[in-house]
Amino acid sequence: MKDECGICGRVMRTTYLRQCQRCKKMFCRDCMTPDVATGDPMAMLCLHCARRIVSPRTVNKYAGLESHLKFRAAFTDLVTLKFARIDGLIGSNLPMAAYRDPLWWSNTSSSAHAKAWLDAGWEVHEVNLKEGTVAFKKVRSLPRKPKRKSLEITQPFIPVPVRPLRSSKKPSNTKVSKLYARIKNLERQRNTRQPIRGMKGKSRYQKRLFKE
Ligand SMILES: [Zn+2]
Ligand SMILES: [Zn+2]
Repeated sequence: MKDECGICGRVMRTTYLRQCQRCKKMFCRDCMTPDVATGDPMAMLCLHCARRIVSPRTVNKYAGLESHLKFRAAFTDLVTLKFARIDGLIGSNLPMAAYRDPLWWSNTSSSAHAKAWLDAGWEVHEVNLKEGTVAFKKVRSLPRKPKRKSLEITQPFIPVPVRPLRSSKKPSNTKVSKLYARIKNLERQRNTRQPIRGMKGKSRYQKRLFKE
């Protein structure tokens, strides 16, 4: 008997898969962790469930699916997604009903999940529980966000007049290398500007390094 891990999708013997205590689906060991609350190695959680315990959701669970469909709307009218792909988009597992009951995929705005694809302007066109795929069809285009007026160009572009070089003499090597060092310093400064909280500030060596 072989089965698929619900997160990474690798197919392996069922004896290598274990059941998540929370969602009751099967996952490989790499995609599971002991329950953070109890640390019990026998009560394993899948990474999706573990994340949900550590940081409970505040927005709609299916927001990831909604934004994905909105994004795809710019390019296509028909999108077929594997259930596992939707798991990835919503950062969670689809409920068992999605795998068993075609009615779960009905286009009724009374359910939070259907509301997600309806709000994005899509409808479920066809669902294949056996293959674990669902096809969405775009039914309406969302109005584009109006551009801000301040960004509109009203005047033709007039380039700033270039001051001609007074002499044809090339800048000296010292000048060039000084400027080059200065740019490097600025780049380094920018990369290390925000120290992580709890970390030590700039060492004296670093301070000296950045001094102009
Ligand atoms: Zn896995
Ligand atoms: Zn789980």
